[in-house]
Amino acid sequence: MTIANSRDRALRERAAAVIPGGMYGHQAVGLLPDDYPQFFERGEGARIWDVDGNGYLDMMCAYGPNLFGYANPEIDAAYVRQLSLGDTLTGPTELMVRLAEEMVAMVSHADWAMFCKNGTDATSMALVAARAQTRRKTIVRAKGAYHGAAPWCTPRGAGVLDTDRANQIFCDYNDVASLEAAVAQAGDDLAAIFAAPFKHDAFIDQAMPDPAYARRARELCDARGAMLVVDEVRAGLRLSRDCSWSLVGVKPDLSTWGKCLANGHALSALMGADSARKGAAAIYVTGSFWYQAAPMAAALETMRLVRETDYLDRLASLGERLRAGLAERAAAAGFGLRQTGPVQMPLFLFDDDPDLRKGFFWSSRMLERGVYVHPWHNMFLCAAMTEADIDGLLDAAEASFADLKRQGPALEPVEKMAFLAGAPR
Ligand code: PMP
Repeated sequence: MTIANSRDRALRERAAAVIPGGMYGHQAVGLLPDDYPQFFERGEGARIWDVDGNGYLDMMCAYGPNLFGYANPEIDAAYVRQLSLGDTLTGPTELMVRLAEEMVAMVSHADWAMFCKNGTDATSMALVAARAQTRRKTIVRAKGAYHGAAPWCTPRGAGVLDTDRANQIFCDYNDVASLEAAVAQAGDDLAAIFAAPFKHDAFIDQAMPDPAYARRARELCDARGAMLVVDEVRAGLRLSRDCSWSLVGVKPDLSTWGKCLANGHALSALMGADSARKGAAAIYVTGSFWYQAAPMAAALETMRLVRETDYLDRLASLGERLRAGLAERAAAAGFGLRQTGPVQMPLFLFDDDPDLRKGFFWSSRMLERGVYVHPWHNMFLCAAMTEADIDGLLDAAEASFADLKRQGPALEPVEKMAFLAGAPR
């Protein structure tokens, strides 16, 4: 281990005593290489610094929230300005209405918006609103797709009852026949089909939505009077200024948004068409912090940057540069590296790497060279990245491929990922 990590180690020990498991949820580093830091001190632009002072080009962007750079001066100034006026008050400010108006103007399927804090709030509201609208129970969703951490959708079974998971039928993403079979099984009780914008499950290759699959989901919902929900929490605003299924010509009834909506400030949203308005108006949903004005001020500034800058083109061109450059360097070093998903949200997986031993070794070498990549989760580009950042990443990648080649057969198995070896990939 060559990166300094003594403060991180000390914090982990303290955390183990006062935080169950030391750390929980998707930002726990238990399934990352051992040298990955758990604790950070600050972020600026496209970079983060861990508690030991090591700086990295951050290819995770906080798992999505960082779209226009950490500590973005314009967005954070709007946030701070509103803090001094009032944040959590007895009711919302005008900003809530303005934000709903601006988002409705931007998202073509939507006629209304409701705000909450986390992606899970938004997806859980979508579930309840769809059931209230249709007065039916069953939802169809794709196996392996993540929609949050509430009992109805958490990927871990501990503490979850079968009844929490009731009335859900699973299909295979992009498989029209499997979708049709799931919908047929729901019979006349289909409340909603939940869809991810693209297949962005952990550990496996990503896949873009087959337009025929997306269209069939819309047709099936129309034929049965059910709601189509697109969960944009992860992909929102990175692929399009609209709901990303607009790219395949499909408009949902409901869409869920979070993560980068306020560039890292706590805000998420459920958006809907008039077809879902009655159900949304009927449900009781709220939270003490849901109407905070400062994150809404940050979101309005984020929306302005979304409208007025060429950030989407930049993300795409940086992503293309990364994908082409990495393919070239991997091939030159003799490695099969699968790069899947949209270029703005890439995932890298090595061929013939069932327990991720190549991926872990290479990622560790990248980390040591100041680039934080993830060995099995999709990554995120942000508009604060530059061509020089991508070129720096590619140089680090080349050197890390060379290290991997030298290591060759001496590569250590990754015990903690052995569970993947037998799993379908
Ligand atoms: N849906 C998707 C597609 C997500 O990626 C996530 C978070 N990774 C969520 C829902 C849940 O969002 P949150 O963690 O903010 O509750």
